[in-house]
Amino acid sequence: MSDDETAARPGPAPDGASGVLDPEDWDDFARRAHAMLDVALAHLKGSGDGPVWQPPPQDLIAQLGRPLEPGGLGAAATDQRIRDLMPYGVGNTHSRFFGWVHGAGTPSNLIAEIAAAAINANCGGRNHAALHVEKQVVNACRDLFGFPETTGGLVVSGTSMATIIAIKAARDQKLRGESRRVGVGGWPLTGYASTEAHSCVRRAFDLLGLGSDALRVIDVDERHQIDTDKLEAAINADRIAGHMPFLVTGNAGTVNAGAIDDLSALADLARRNGLWLHVDGAFGAFAILSPEHRGRLRGIDRADSLAFDFHKWPQVNYDAGCVLIRDQQAQLDAFSQRPHYLAGAQEGLAAGAPWPVDLGPELSRGFRALKVWAHLLEHGFDIIGEVVARNCEQAAYLAARVDAHPQLERLAPAELNICCFRYNPGGLYAAALDALNQDIVERLQLDGVAAPSTTWTGGHLAIRVNITNHRTQMRDIDSLVEAVISCGERLCAGLERD
Ligand SMILES: *Cc1c(COP(=O)(O)O)cnc(C)c1O
Repeated sequence: MSDDETAARPGPAPDGASGVLDPEDWDDFARRAHAMLDVALAHLKGSGDGPVWQPPPQDLIAQLGRPLEPGGLGAAATDQRIRDLMPYGVGNTHSRFFGWVHGAGTPSNLIAEIAAAAINANCGGRNHAALHVEKQVVNACRDLFGFPETTGGLVVSGTSMATIIAIKAARDQKLRGESRRVGVGGWPLTGYASTEAHSCVRRAFDLLGLGSDALRVIDVDERHQIDTDKLEAAINADRIAGHMPFLVTGNAGTVNAGAIDDLSALADLARRNGLWLHVDGAFGAFAILSPEHRGRLRGIDRADSLAFDFHKWPQVNYDAGCVLIRDQQAQLDAFSQRPHYLAGAQEGLAAGAPWPVDLGPELSRGFRALKVWAHLLEHGFDIIGEVVARNCEQAAYLAARVDAHPQLERLAPAELNICCFRYNPGGLYAAALDALNQDIVERLQLDGVAAPSTTWTGGHLAIRVNITNHRTQMRDIDSLVEAVISCGERLCAGLERD
């Protein structure tokens, strides 16, 4: 070896040096981090000021459309870029955000998110505290919903993922695990849900190779609950036609009306027919925390699986949901598969079983459970029940104001926390009325006054107001009603002028 080659070899790193991506000066870094914390706190503190939503400006969109600077921008410019984004969220931190089903989040969650980032745990498996935290969250929910000790579960991104996991467990149980090897091509499995079921059920059927046609859609009654006679008739008809019914999905809170199916009746029906009962409780499951509403969830403890979101009514920051599966073995049978490089051990880092990777599709997964756990530790469950009760009262108040106003028309039952209605001045054709109400919603959003969303119910376009927001006050409902009326009047005046 020549002297030149020896000289080119890197020497040992000097003691005390940090990794290449670590700060050179930690005091500097602390100042930088504290500055961003102050920005974040100011943002949260002001979440009720200003517009509910504003569209991101064109120059911001243009900048985000350009390629990233390959050499990096450095700390100061990057932090500025982050700050530039902050005013342009969805708006769900505001008290007058009523669109879709969004939670508003809490300032405390910021603290848990900082800690989670610092720990930077991979929660697919192995032997570390985070997995016990997740298990404690799952067990707390198991107990809350009256599920047995045999229950398995995971903290996941949301109800969409929870639904995929639950239906996969149901599918593989029906086919005794064969489907894991050979797929479902040969088996004509069918499942059942109401017309009001969330699209995530259909997506799960698609993703799991069952095909969305295998999900039979059953009519609802005037309260938007699944018609159990029609359901049983459809199951029988499928069986006679040679299909294999395996699953029925119940709703605990539909997106259009907050309707809750008769879960006891569904549990009886599922047992009679040998079907797996999955309950979509994305937001509505937490009505169990409100003494006034809990009775309507009777039977939820008899479900084979339950999906729900912490990021909706419980107000945990995005994203966090949960799946519970009554028989953890069914979940293991659907997901466990450990190659040599993921083998467990008696002791050390590979100890502990099962790992989350045995219970769901993801291997690498972040410490999402920490913010849920910290939220439940700090606030307990009761306060979530108070938010549930208050939001339902607000929806009932909105429904009463709608019913009392001659130009407002309710379009669906207001069963829980959702009210669908429209502005109807009379004398407009159906299509014009739909267009007018679409315009009203867009106008309210663009003006930053309030952010409801739209849906179609009974063949009409509806202004859809969902309240899963701990910041909403009665006066926000009044502002919304007044804004809808004045916006409707303004748009109608415009219609006539044209
Ligand atoms: C929000 C919602 C879903 C989907 O949940 P994500 O957390 O968005 O994946 C499913 N069902 C109902 C009833 C919902 O409200």
